[in-house]
Amino acid sequence: MTCPSTEELAAVYDGNLKGRQALKIRDHVAACPRCAHELHVLHQSLQSVPKAPTPPGDLAAWALRPRQKSWIAPQVNLFSPHRRPTK
Ligand SMILES: [Zn+2]
Repeated sequence: MTCPSTEELAAVYDGNLKGRQALKIRDHVAACPRCAHELHVLHQSLQSVPKAPTPPGDLAAWALRPRQKSWIAPQVNLFSPHRRPTK
């Protein structure tokens, strides 16, 4: 398989790409240092984007209210051997 495009890597990372195509790309990334590095860079750049919404005027109330889990991106580890498709 040839290296997937950055767009395809991003789609897999975001979970927008599913099924056989996503599995093929994940398998490729697991075996290809170049794509693994590209995905790592993608991950780093996405991590630097602030995910929390702008705090409202009442900062104290905002800080004390319960955390919303939806702010936190799910931890996706494409390289974990435990996540490899079993077949
Ligand atoms: Zn590759």
